[in-house]
Amino acid sequence: MPESLLIRGGTVVHTASTERADVLVVDGRIAEVAASIDPPAGTREVDASGCLVGPGLVDLHTHLREPGGEEAETVETGCRAGALGGYTALLAMPNTMPATDSAAVVAQVLDLGRAAAIDVAVAGAITVGRQGTELAPLAEMAALGVRVFTDDGTGVQDAGLMLRAMQYARGIGATLAEHCEDESLAGDGCMNQGALSSKLGLPGRSGLSEEVMVARDLALAASTGCSLHLLHLSTERSLELVLEARRRGVSVTFEVTPHHLWLSEELCATYDTAFKVHPPLRSSSDVAALVAALCEGSVDAVATDHAPHPPQAKDRPFDEASPGMLGLEQAMGLTYEALGADVSVAVELFRVLSRTPAEIAHLTAEHDRVGGQSAHGGDIAQGEDANLVIFDPDGRIVVDRAKLASRASNTPYQGRIIIGTIRHTICAGDLVVEGGEATT
Ligand SMILES: [Zn+2]
Repeated sequence: MPESLLIRGGTVVHTASTERADVLVVDGRIAEVAASIDPPAGTREVDASGCLVGPGLVDLHTHLREPGGEEAETVETGCRAGALGGYTALLAMPNTMPATDSAAVVAQVLDLGRAAAIDVAVAGAITVGRQGTELAPLAEMAALGVRVFTDDGTGVQDAGLMLRAMQYARGIGATLAEHCEDESLAGDGCMNQGALSSKLGLPGRSGLSEEVMVARDLALAASTGCSLHLLHLSTERSLELVLEARRRGVSVTFEVTPHHLWLSEELCATYDTAFKVHPPLRSSSDVAALVAALCEGSVDAVATDHAPHPPQAKDRPFDEASPGMLGLEQAMGLTYEALGADVSVAVELFRVLSRTPAEIAHLTAEHDRVGGQSAHGGDIAQGEDANLVIFDPDGRIVVDRAKLASRASNTPYQGRIIIGTIRHTICAGDLVVEGGEATT
């Protein structure tokens, strides 16, 4: 007998509109969307009353840490955290140990992903070992379905090498994603450079170090025609540069993180290493500019940069601690609140968290996916793969680092009330989160 699931009574979020409808899922696909569905016998039902029913979220920026960093996170635990956050697909960053810079490591992470609660796509490294000196074998990774390459954790410092990577990536139809920080300017800075870093006696990491690399990569992308994605942009000037290049026709997309939308450099005055991240938390005027861009609809994607660390990497002096913070389990509520916490933003919420990220990660049905993942970010319509999230905008949860699904606990949101909760997550037709609890 076919497995069927009825999602009853929710507000379905389409690509440009919403409607009150039931959704019937049969054998991993959406079989029907209608005002009131009389399901076949034996169908399971989940209640979606008062909730938004949208495409499962797609995170463009997850550090799953496996292989090599299993003390902080594994593919299994990271995917469970993702499912609880409403995600049905994650793009795993390649700064693992060893780095994901070969077909062998790509195959290993894809295998681990197939056993996890949700889909895992893999970003390959641009350079061998992420060392920034020699191009990695992009074609052999592309043959396994890799469509995004990045040295994230650091940017590619050598402009000539980045130019060659772009020429090569363009030839194989891949996207290059850049962590924009020029190391000759960022140095060993551990927070935003400015009056506050001077007052606190901490070395600064300037906005300029980001903007210089943004400008460089936009020029390289304009020259090569390579598809470019800029990771975790954090300053007002970076956004101006990208939007101006896009008006000139440069093929560029960018993401912002929930932490750069919500947290500013003042938090570093606590010397709490939960607030240390690269690029660093910026000034309140940068934060305001990012929120304004999000609310105006000019941001392509909100991505988490979920970066788990074991306690010994964070229980250190601020300037010595590892940079990075958790994000998967709170990103949807934080984005909803940044957009104004009103259901009228539903279409935009799913555009920045699911539909555009799925396109950037090459995970929509139109792309030739050979990594084994189903299609993400599609419409809620008959025949589409059933990757769905049911979001309760009236739900509230208080962040408790002891209760996170992530193996690590380095959240910057301890004690914060999150507006909007994940009620159910459905991946390829399976309920991987039911009533806010993971089923796997
Ligand atoms: Zn990064």
